[in-house]
Amino acid sequence: MPRVVVVGASFAGLYAAKGLRSIADVVVIDASDEWEYTPSVHEVLGGRRMADTILASIRDTLSGVEVVRGVAVAANESEVHVEICGSIKKLPYDHLIISVGCAYARPIKAQLASLDRRAQLAGAQRLYRDASSVLVVGGGAVGVEVAGELAANHTVTLTAREDELVGDLPGAARRYALDSLRAQNVRVALSGEEVRGSFDEKIECYGARPRTGWLATFVDRDARGFVRVDGHYRTSIRNVWAAGDCVAKDAKQYLAAYAHFEGEYVAQMVASEILGSAPPGAYVPPPRIVALALGPDDGVLCYGRFVVLSGRAVPWVKALVERWVVRLWPLPYALFCRLPALA
Ligand SMILES: Cc1cc2nc3c(=O)[nH]c(=O)nc-3n(C[C@H](O)[C@H](O)[C@H](O)COP(=O)(O)OP(=O)(O)OC[C@H]3O[C@@H](n4cnc5c(N)ncnc54)[C@H](O)[C@@H]3O)c2cc1C
Repeated sequence: MPRVVVVGASFAGLYAAKGLRSIADVVVIDASDEWEYTPSVHEVLGGRRMADTILASIRDTLSGVEVVRGVAVAANESEVHVEICGSIKKLPYDHLIISVGCAYARPIKAQLASLDRRAQLAGAQRLYRDASSVLVVGGGAVGVEVAGELAANHTVTLTAREDELVGDLPGAARRYALDSLRAQNVRVALSGEEVRGSFDEKIECYGARPRTGWLATFVDRDARGFVRVDGHYRTSIRNVWAAGDCVAKDAKQYLAAYAHFEGEYVAQMVASEILGSAPPGAYVPPPRIVALALGPDDGVLCYGRFVVLSGRAVPWVKALVERWVVRLWPLPYALFCRLPALA
């Protein structure tokens, strides 16, 4: 059977590997042997959940593939070089899928190959539990979710350079998020307004950067390091594909759902090459559906430019989605790309 190597085992990589394991020898490489459900990390930081509940063994999540724990450090047209415990292993491939996502400030995301993410998250929990005032920097979805989560037990100040929170959501959702945070006594300072006073803790919620430095002399990347792909998620090198947050794409598509759709789509493309069947048409991004939590009891759910749900039910929707996704149950791309855009 042909050999497919997938670098990065998260939303994009796991769904790509799942789609190919029956027709190829699939090798999944990740710096960690656990998959982290990043969209719920704010609940762990706020102390409502233990780290264990957002971490799952990659081997248990996806059977029928070989899992290699190591950091990919280089690649060429036929091999990936992986650093495992200080030595380099060369893994040959017929198809390579790059799904390495983005780095983010700690403790929101782990450093690659950090030894103990559980301990790191537990340490962050202790830090925030012992703090009475917290400064959250960043007014995107991450900053807003973190501020909402911490608001119940802390004096929270959220500061953002922009003049609105969650600028990529519809106007009604932006207003709802601002009103909700203010109702929970979060002080929101927008447009770079100076924030005075001292804070026990500060948490940075901005600055995602693609983890693609190791690809610099291999595939084409844009000026920020995101991997360039064509309409079928092919990179500049034959038989090398990319999916998820490491790809250069519309700013509104850096979401788990899109990583998932792209992973599934790339699996279909690779499968068509392996089986010699007709490839799917060019990738069409499904409509944007975003659930934003505003603490444990509030939130806003948007479909395209509409708010379709708000209030207590939204955190429940998010919890349901999590239960679905961590089991790698299908969110079929072929179905979602046919939904009306409402953009
Ligand atoms: C705090 C937070 C909250 C979020 N909330 C939501 C939400 O509510 N809804 C939503 O849709 N999206 C949300 N997102 C965005 C979502 O998490 C990302 O879009 C999604 O994780 C991207 O998936 P991915 O598979 O592309 O990459 P990632 O999830 O970033 O995974 C990349 C994987 O590759 C591995 N890796 C990277 N480099 C290497 C290497 N060189 N060698 C080996 N392994 C490597 C990493 O260890 C990691 O496992 C949130 C993001 C953050 C940070």
